[in-house]
Amino acid sequence: MSIQLYNTLTRKKEPLRTVETGRVKIYVCGPTVYNYIHIGNARVFVFFDVVRRYLKYRGYEVTYVQNLTDVDDKLIKASQETGRPVPEIAETYIGAFFEDMDSLGVERANVHPRATEHIPEMIEAIRTLIDKGYAYERDGDVYFRALSKEGYGKLSHQSLEELKAGARVEVNERKENPLDFALWKRAKPGEISWESPWGRGRPGWHIECSVMSRKYLGDTFDIHAGGTDLTFPHHENEIAQSEALTGKPFALQWMHNGYINMGSEKMSKSLGNIVRVKDLREEFSPRAIRHFLLSAHYRNPIQFTRETMEQMERGIERIDTAWTNLRHRMKASMEGPVLPETAKALDELTREFEGAMDDDFNTASAIGVLFEGVRMANELIGRDVVPRGTLQAVADWLNRYGGEILGLVATEAEEETDEQVEALIQKRQEARRRRDFAQADAIRDQLAAMGIIVEDTPQGVRWRRKS
Ligand SMILES: [Zn+2]
Repeated sequence: MSIQLYNTLTRKKEPLRTVETGRVKIYVCGPTVYNYIHIGNARVFVFFDVVRRYLKYRGYEVTYVQNLTDVDDKLIKASQETGRPVPEIAETYIGAFFEDMDSLGVERANVHPRATEHIPEMIEAIRTLIDKGYAYERDGDVYFRALSKEGYGKLSHQSLEELKAGARVEVNERKENPLDFALWKRAKPGEISWESPWGRGRPGWHIECSVMSRKYLGDTFDIHAGGTDLTFPHHENEIAQSEALTGKPFALQWMHNGYINMGSEKMSKSLGNIVRVKDLREEFSPRAIRHFLLSAHYRNPIQFTRETMEQMERGIERIDTAWTNLRHRMKASMEGPVLPETAKALDELTREFEGAMDDDFNTASAIGVLFEGVRMANELIGRDVVPRGTLQAVADWLNRYGGEILGLVATEAEEETDEQVEALIQKRQEARRRRDFAQADAIRDQLAAMGIIVEDTPQGVRWRRKS
């Protein structure tokens, strides 16, 4: 069974294709760093973090590139409003972006190229497009002739008529055709700018991604992705420029994720109904946010509500409780093998998990399988006698699928908590030895408040989490 994915270009689910066998090259459009990101922005980054982890699990070598747009109209506007230079604003929000991503457990890309560090390459690409007749200069701006190449509209599946009807009614006499788009923008006085053959200016947003993806992934690469709102014009324009530039297909497959909705509207900065990752992290655990962002199939919208977030948090608590109890039971249990029925059930869960992920990366179903694993752990913990090997096999399964791939089982963080519990139990034992029962009871109450039940048995002290 191979991995199937929905390709926006063909509008079909198709087997994953790669230029090189065993290697997947992915480009995901990154943030424009003029503000904190909201959870609608974060969805694609968290989802692709899982895609990457899963492809690695499937044996692929993954090269993952995600750009940082550190110059554009929004940054210039923010600079004019605050009086801070564009590079300073960009630096602030690049830092904030990585802080958000790190907290959500998103691994860094292989490369996070910045637009401002690739200006010479962009100028070179624009010059080539002019030489080949695909672009023209007007008063210091350079535009791409959108219709100069066959197939414009193929990604967003729009006919020429639809494209024309959708073209913004704007008075720009410099453009030959309203569908043409800027490759280079002449600088207005006081704006950040670079020297070019067409005078001082800055690159357009679309050319940035075409140039940087080509530099790090080659003329043709495997998967290009982003939010569904990037399909047109951003990705459509990227295809037109790149294919005009190289004469080769640009990306083999295109993936686009759905919106996060607030009430009946999509979450977006322009509507002002956003929830920033930074703010949500103060109220909910990062893994609950991650759980939320993966809780629907990536192409479907997700509805944001406080109740849903609370439900996600309870899900994470269930995982943590099972994990802690499992580890504690392992310490207290006798050596022994994996029970055959457990081995069989785990194999079945693995097949279900792979089936979900192979089917266009259905994280919603994969999370469902993870919770079956949690139920299985709880059932075993509830038994009187379970061989250690059996508990270990379940712990390994949860760690691999729920931790390494989905990033929802936090094995390390829980070990810290375990250590805290062990230290408190140790203190309680010492208090009892000193016959300081008031102190011992106080510690017991403290543990109870943490959801820890302490049991004194003839073999010593045992503890478990309240489930
Ligand atoms: Zn892009």
